Amino acid sequence: MNTPIIDNFNHIISVIKEVFAFYKLPPKPIQTIVVTKNQPIENIIPLLEDGHRLFGENKVQEAYEKWPQLKERYSDIELHLIGPLQSNKVKKALDLFDAIQVIDRESVIDTLTKHSDLIKPHHQFFIQVNIGNEPQKSGVLVSDFPELLTYAKNHAIKISGLMCIPPQDQDPVNYFMMMQSLCRQNGNLKLSAGMSSDYKQAILCGADYIRIGSAIFL
Ligand SMILES: *Cc1c(COP(=O)(O)O)cnc(C)c1O
Repeated sequence: MNTPIIDNFNHIISVIKEVFAFYKLPPKPIQTIVVTKNQPIENIIPLLEDGHRLFGENKVQEAYEKWPQLKERYSDIELHLIGPLQSNKVKKALDLFDAIQVIDRESVIDTLTKHSDLIKPHHQFFIQVNIGNEPQKSGVLVSDFPELLTYAKNHAIKISGLMCIPPQDQDPVNYFMMMQSLCRQNGNLKLSAGMSSDYKQAILCGADYIRIGSAIFL
């Protein structure tokens, strides 16, 4: 079954391969998170039927309207929360999501600790870094990041990666490079960076996870 959605997804995968070949990058797996915010289930099913299992949602509530039924029908789905998380939604998020990419303050870590009985071995946690230090954006400020990482460690929340959304209308490369060095300086954390408009640059800067929405759902 080849729908435009599958074609678009396959196109992204082939572009990733081309980037690796053209720049002679050492091979490594790139995890493509298909971002399904605002997408109805009918648009998600073709991807699941095609075997894709890695998805991202922005809102806990919206995710609950779609993913419990999909997780029942398809095994091994890995769902990442990539939008802002309020402390009062942490418990629900732990129940549905396999990864939370948006930890950006101590209170969220406190709440995770409070519900540590819900944390399963497969759960992954990422710190979101406000890499452009933009006042209106979520993510921990770069200057506050080391302290937050230590705070997570001290509270037995294992951080496996860092996530960022660079400032719009600017060349993202410098921001991606800063994220890459933060990852390397802190024990080779995974990097979640790159969206439809800038995933190629993100891959060149060492992204492990890219998050693609509009380029797939056009
Ligand atoms: C919507 C969204 C994406 C996907 O963006 P596109 O430009 O549609 O590919 C990635 N990351 C986050 C945090 C998002 O909110």
